[in-house]
Amino acid sequence: MQALRLVTVLGSTGSIGVSTLDVIARHPEQFEVYALTARQSVAVMLEQCQQFRPRYAVMLEPEAAAQLRQQLLAQGLPTQVLSGASNLVEVAADAKVDIVMAAIVGAAGLAPTLAAAQQGKQVLLANKEALVMAGGLFMSAVRDANAVLLPIDSEHNAIFQCLPSNAQAQIDKRGFRKILLTASGGPFRDWSAEAMREVTPDQACAHPNWDMGRKISVDSATLMNKGLELIEACWLFDVSAADIEIVVHPQSIVHSMVQYNDGSVLAQLGNPDMRTPIAYGLGWPERIDSGVADLDIVAAGQLDFEAPDEQRFPCLRLAREAVERGGICMAALNAANEVAVEAFLEERISFTAIAEVIEQVLQQTVNAEPVTLNVVQQADSTARLMARDVISGMS
Ligand code: NAD
Ligand code: MG
Repeated sequence: MQALRLVTVLGSTGSIGVSTLDVIARHPEQFEVYALTARQSVAVMLEQCQQFRPRYAVMLEPEAAAQLRQQLLAQGLPTQVLSGASNLVEVAADAKVDIVMAAIVGAAGLAPTLAAAQQGKQVLLANKEALVMAGGLFMSAVRDANAVLLPIDSEHNAIFQCLPSNAQAQIDKRGFRKILLTASGGPFRDWSAEAMREVTPDQACAHPNWDMGRKISVDSATLMNKGLELIEACWLFDVSAADIEIVVHPQSIVHSMVQYNDGSVLAQLGNPDMRTPIAYGLGWPERIDSGVADLDIVAAGQLDFEAPDEQRFPCLRLAREAVERGGICMAALNAANEVAVEAFLEERISFTAIAEVIEQVLQQTVNAEPVTLNVVQQADSTARLMARDVISGMS
């Protein structure tokens, strides 16, 4: 029997964080929660501390930490409450921790996720933005520290499962021809470009197949999520964008495929429930129960596939351009997208303006090699300033 493994969940109060704790709760003999982290959701964190009794709870915001500390004390719970970004890094890199679930949304997840890789942890990567921003640095940290990097994004988890042998840190690509990266197409798959101008944040966040945080829901609606995933796949599997074909598959049952030189195409299928890739990452190299209902393939009935439309969804083209230019352009793309999505969610810009902001930021970006984390962070800040500038010129 395996020894009890200690887990830190970065972003435990979010959609992926909650699903991770759901899987962990099914296997008390295998996993123990060491640390939980969140930005500010005190009520959810309090409940999670009651249920899982972690050693540490880190709240990014100091006021949230103070409130949580008081409530935990009142209930006599032993969890130690910390705050601030440096403590996110501490609980991700802590020597006692075996597994780190990286489920913070956006660039804020980069430092703790990178720290976990540098300490050679088993890193369950949901936070795709970290890899998009600093893929080169991240992958060399994984290699240098012999970390085990397991993709949690459902498509990348599917690809990982369809590769010939994924038992080593080095991905094996014998006979590999190409990746077929599937996309649901989001809620506006059939909408005209004109109709998309009037989209509201709530419409954009109502994904047909997946229940996710608001930022990734908007990314799925613009298809920037697929653009970020294209970049993520390039880093994870050491392939170029030309080796990846994006295929729209509205049912989200086939989570991605790998084609081989003998004509075989391997696919991973399942219900659209993130607990499947999460359980795969936690249990690896074994398979463990996830709580996901068995796929009823007969009830699913029909599986459709179509080519994406880059005219109506320009974010796909922008991501391809960024990965082709390389360097800091991917960090700039990501930063501009984060700022534009936030502005859209706050109803300061229209849905279709998201791509316009990113396009302008990319045009203004002077490329450089992301040789250090500092260069990446600088590129991120510069692109954010440019994006804010573009947005203020729009209103
Ligand atoms: P979410 O918004 O539901 O949760 C985000 C979590 O991060 C929360 O716990 C929040 O408190 C924390 N957080 C937010 N900002 C922070 C900051 N500045 N500093 C520290 N913590 C912060 O997001 P989600 O849908 O769970 O997505 C998390 C990540 O997983 C994203 O990178 C997303 O792209 C990726 N992902 C999500 C899904 C999904 O189904 N939800 C699928 C694939 C990949
Ligand atoms: Mg995905």
